[in-house]
Amino acid sequence: MSFSATSSSTDTGSMPVGMVHTVADLRRQVGDWRKAGKRIALVPTMGALHAGHVALMEAASRQADKVVLSIFVNPTQFAPTEDLSRYPRTLEADLAKAQGAGVALAFVPSAADMYPDGFCTTISLAGPALGLETDFRPTHFAGVATVVAKLLIQVAPDVALFGEKDYQQLAVVSQLARDMDLPVTILGVPTVREADGLALSSRNVYLSPAERANAPALHRALTQAAHAIAGGAEPALAVEAARAQVIAAGFALDYLELRHARTLAPVAAATDGPLRLLVAARIGTTRLIDNIPVPL
Ligand code: AMP
Repeated sequence: MSFSATSSSTDTGSMPVGMVHTVADLRRQVGDWRKAGKRIALVPTMGALHAGHVALMEAASRQADKVVLSIFVNPTQFAPTEDLSRYPRTLEADLAKAQGAGVALAFVPSAADMYPDGFCTTISLAGPALGLETDFRPTHFAGVATVVAKLLIQVAPDVALFGEKDYQQLAVVSQLARDMDLPVTILGVPTVREADGLALSSRNVYLSPAERANAPALHRALTQAAHAIAGGAEPALAVEAARAQVIAAGFALDYLELRHARTLAPVAAATDGPLRLLVAARIGTTRLIDNIPVPL
């Protein structure tokens, strides 16, 4: 069994994070914990960890005795034209952050382990997976759902934590767990932001200084629209104003929509809530997404 322990430069005095690469080693370790009656949490990520991921890992530590962090840049959720090859990979720094956040085990599989030759099963989705991201990344959620289903089956955690930052993903994963009777609680964790409102994202490193300066316009536009709708403004007009704001800040807009917060279905009136505003927009070569609740 290749179970390696890593200690980090930002040693906090906590237990070193173990690391496994294969499903067999993962199952052996998690199986031991389960036999000992431990409650287990899973935090799936693609690495390049930042304070948003740390919030997930810390929330997981409060939920369970043992936290498993998965780090896997999942090729099936990237379209051929997307940033798979240039996606940031920072394993050493990730393990240091994981240790500081109380993670017990990092599962870092290879693509060949997750998708061995002959792999041909995907998960077909509807409901919250329809529209929004799917209009622009048609194969994305099938890839996400397939890898998340695999991780949930491999780890069999009591609880798995996902960021509200990827709100549609959280809705898709919650639906997946419900529909497939997976014995896991899916928890959402609020979005961690920079002081100027920009949601933390591994992709923010792609932004040039000028793009970074404009990027908070996304959150600003959502916030103003949410307050306007909460204050009684006509939702369609508030959404239209927010779209114009995003475009004026130099973004190419994919979508900015008002949706039902649970089903993600379109809504016509503020009384159709709870409501969520969601946006995806491109600045230069970088695509950013964000969302906020409408406080009604
Ligand atoms: P990723 O590595 O981008 O696939 O993200 C892994 C998990 O971290 C997902 O559940 C994301 O929603 C979550 N996440 C990413 N950014 C943030 C953020 N700024 N705040 C909270 N959670 C986040």
